[in-house]
Amino acid sequence: MALIVQKYGGTSVGSIERIKKVAERVIESSNRGNKVLVVLSAMAGQTDALIEQSKEITESPDPRELDVLMATGEQVSVSLFSMAVKSMGHDCCSLLGFQAAIHTDHIYGKARIRTIDSKRILRELDKNGVVAVAGFQGIDEKRNITTLGRGGSDTTAVALAAALKADMCEIYTDVEGVFSTDPNICSRAKKIDRISYDEMLEFASLGAKVLDIRSVEFAKKFNVPLHVRSSFTENEGTMVVSETKEMEKVMVSGVVFDKNEARVTMAHVPDRPGIAFKIFEPVFRAGIVVDMIVQNTSVEGFTDLTFTVPIADFQRTIALVQGVAKDIGVDTVVGDEEIAKVSIIGVGMRNHAGIASKMFETLSKENINISMISTSEIKISCVIEEKYTELAVRALHEAFGLGDEKAEA
Ligand code: ADP
Ligand code: ASP
Ligand code: MG
Repeated sequence: MALIVQKYGGTSVGSIERIKKVAERVIESSNRGNKVLVVLSAMAGQTDALIEQSKEITESPDPRELDVLMATGEQVSVSLFSMAVKSMGHDCCSLLGFQAAIHTDHIYGKARIRTIDSKRILRELDKNGVVAVAGFQGIDEKRNITTLGRGGSDTTAVALAAALKADMCEIYTDVEGVFSTDPNICSRAKKIDRISYDEMLEFASLGAKVLDIRSVEFAKKFNVPLHVRSSFTENEGTMVVSETKEMEKVMVSGVVFDKNEARVTMAHVPDRPGIAFKIFEPVFRAGIVVDMIVQNTSVEGFTDLTFTVPIADFQRTIALVQGVAKDIGVDTVVGDEEIAKVSIIGVGMRNHAGIASKMFETLSKENINISMISTSEIKISCVIEEKYTELAVRALHEAFGLGDEKAEA
């Protein structure tokens, strides 16, 4: 008897009809002799709606109460799902994060899973065959409700699969798998049959929201086989697995974009020891994650410094940096929220030269200006003006020959 974790995202449980369909699918899997641990997201749009409601009370809701509120979205879907399964004559039990003993740290809105005590889940699985756990939530050491960050239900699913040593973790979503680029913006995007954990980590961290980055980190660390597939069809999706020699033959496997970063530039920064520390220390202390950093060579003892942060932290970052600017004698701090980061990814890049130049050439042919560049072993990222994102993605997708011949251009 196999133990399978199946996670269904917001669109997959977006209506009562959809919840019933998911219930049928889960029962089928159970009737084939599997134990099925189901992890559900909130119904599509619900988490956003809850956040909007909190904003009607105050622009900066209390983080603890916001987590209590956001966690209700998943409570609705697991209870409705469990009712649906029972109404179809099969046993089922819903569990919220605290009942499933998903213990996290205490960082509201971005909590990390520390441990899972699987006793209750295993007991309920033995009894019912199907158990539905609310994704995206846990409890801290003081039994406060925490949430894991947007998209966090993927992480709940993979963490549970790792804790229970499940035979498979299936992520059901609204597309047929992981594609060479977002299929919703490029009709020629091609489904990838097998992708390595490392490539998937880059896809997720550079903006492909099909999997939450922490879920991929867990999957890699605990070797959880992941199958990303559609809840609307029976087709095979994408397997996320350890890297094989075959995979290195592919130079570029995907194009990813991220519109959720903003750029901060400080001009005429004195070039002397300790300045970078002075600028970034308060930013880091505020828990803001800085992504790209570019500093020019100094001219006559002064340099320019540009970096990117998540758009949600942009205003806070500007305020913090302006505070330091006065201290160090910088009078120009400018920011830009209308940027996008476009990246190409591929494990084959390690062994192939000329990929960066092809990327720059492709963007230049489209007359798109590159304002920042960063590279790693298996990716190249360029920051461009946000309005050119789709154009850049499609041009790069074409230039690296990633298009699906079957799809219309
Ligand atoms: P769920 O609600 O099931 O968690 P998400 O909306 O979080 O689904 O993730 C699925 C979406 O990810 C797709 O609808 C697609 O627009 C987007 N996406 C972005 N990049 C990719 C990619 N490379 N492959 C597949 N989907 C992608
Ligand atoms: N409901 C949460 C969100 O919308 C978690 C998830 O769907 O994964 O971000
Ligand atoms: Mg998601």
